[in-house]
Amino acid sequence: MFNQRKYLKERNKTLKKLNICIQCAKYPISINRSKYRCDNCLNKAKKINTDYLKKLRQQRRREKVCLNCGSLYVCNKFNIHTGRKNKELMCEICYLKKISKQHLGTSKKWQLLENLFKKQKGKCYYTGIKLTIGQNASIDHKICKAKNGQNNIENLCWADWKINLMKRDLDIQEFFKLCKIVVFYNKL
Ligand SMILES: [Zn+2]
Ligand SMILES: [Zn+2]
Repeated sequence: MFNQRKYLKERNKTLKKLNICIQCAKYPISINRSKYRCDNCLNKAKKINTDYLKKLRQQRRREKVCLNCGSLYVCNKFNIHTGRKNKELMCEICYLKKISKQHLGTSKKWQLLENLFKKQKGKCYYTGIKLTIGQNASIDHKICKAKNGQNNIENLCWADWKINLMKRDLDIQEFFKLCKIVVFYNKL
């Protein structure tokens, strides 16, 4: 009886030995990427994958669900800066992952940002303004990057995005001093 599995195993073994792609059995195995496939087959697979992802994202955009995971619970319906409707909707976790990638170099540390948010009781670090992730909550560097502030969790805080814009590259003391001048000058 013909044993398909055994046949394939033998076939692949021979092809690998000859350094030939196990998918098409035509071209040499790619030097850059393994999986025992030739560049041609690897690129084809990659293209199918990207086409699929593109379609999936289009569909999620139409359905107004999280672009990355398809969750119905999206947190950023409106653009923080313009107030207009957002096209790239995300759930809270995917949103945190994106910010984590931006500020901590990897999306895997998103829980650190979530914990920081909880630690601040969901309030702006400088003003106590109530924050909503995906809305007005933004990440600020306590010591700004221009002054060698680091991209680590100890140097980050959640702040209202408008306050964050006001503070810009100032350090905390400079910022508070300026706030005082504004209040004093305008007799507020
Ligand atoms: Zn091939
Ligand atoms: Zn998501």
